[in-house]
Amino acid sequence: GAKANGRRTHRFFEPEMDASAKARLSMELDLRQALVNGGFEIHYQPLVDLRTNEVSGCEALLRWRHPVRGMVSPAEFIPVAEDTGLINELGAWVLRMACNEAATWPAHVRVAVNVSPVQLKCDTLALRIAGALADSGLNPRRLELEITEAVLIRDDEAALSILHQLRSIGVRIALDDFGTGYSSLSYLKRFPFDKIKIDRCFVVDIAEASGSPVIVQAVVNIAAASSMTTVAEGVETEAQRDMLRALGCTQMQGYLFSAPKPASEVRKLFGPGDSAPVAAVA
Ligand code: C2E
Ligand code: MG
Ligand code: MG
Ligand code: MG
Repeated sequence: GAKANGRRTHRFFEPEMDASAKARLSMELDLRQALVNGGFEIHYQPLVDLRTNEVSGCEALLRWRHPVRGMVSPAEFIPVAEDTGLINELGAWVLRMACNEAATWPAHVRVAVNVSPVQLKCDTLALRIAGALADSGLNPRRLELEITEAVLIRDDEAALSILHQLRSIGVRIALDDFGTGYSSLSYLKRFPFDKIKIDRCFVVDIAEASGSPVIVQAVVNIAAASSMTTVAEGVETEAQRDMLRALGCTQMQGYLFSAPKPASEVRKLFGPGDSAPVAAVA
């Protein structure tokens, strides 16, 4: 099976190759093709300040337009890109595109880019990010990297050292999907994050009797005590937004304000603010 083949062994079509291994290999080939042929695009989803209602940033979310299957979800293809190492190239592409795009936005709007734990193993990541920033002219403070807590759970020293390198460049680091991966609040001591993204599962029932605003309250309190901000993911109703605002959460992200959209559409949602300096427009 695909698992037994491991990640570093050669793979090719063999008679005994099972259907799922074939499907994976075929997806890997399709992904490589898409990287060359412009089959990927990025949609951006606003992060909204809960006090001012202003868009203070956007998350870059990768989209794959497959010639036969149509839009394929990142949940489906990111794991394959990670297993094959293709995520390094794909991630570098997303970073460049997102930095170039954000350099055209008002200066108060940040861009958030998801970084896979696999990318954090690559010791050229910091150099790549510095390159994307320099080429786009984007202020490093306007780039926020979203990483999942898998990195903390494995207590991966190499990954943590890369995170420190990135921090020294000036980029912000957010902890994504907080609360999903057997996490504990003690993990937060392993790295000084700028932001915690509270997973959608804590938001979905927050305004209901069965909900758990206490958990969100605790996370918000701990974040504030350590100079971190918070963003709630998957906000779909006004009742959820009102509760999060009352709990002191910094930002919200979700369908209530906007789904992820192409760059040309998301720009229309930005408030006036300062316009980007002309030199920064790539
Ligand atoms: P994520 O980083 O936690 O992104 C949030 C996901 O929640 C996105 O799914 C977004 O479309 C969805 N979402 C936003 N608002 C709502 C809402 O109100 N309700 C619901 N039900 N969902 C909402 P998407 O775009 O399918 O991405 C899934 C995951 O794929 C992301 O989760 C992220 O882990 C990964 N991903 C996406 N783009 C990239 C990328 O460029 N690099 C890497 N490494 N991973 C990526
Ligand atoms: Mg994310
Ligand atoms: Mg998330
Ligand atoms: Mg998520």
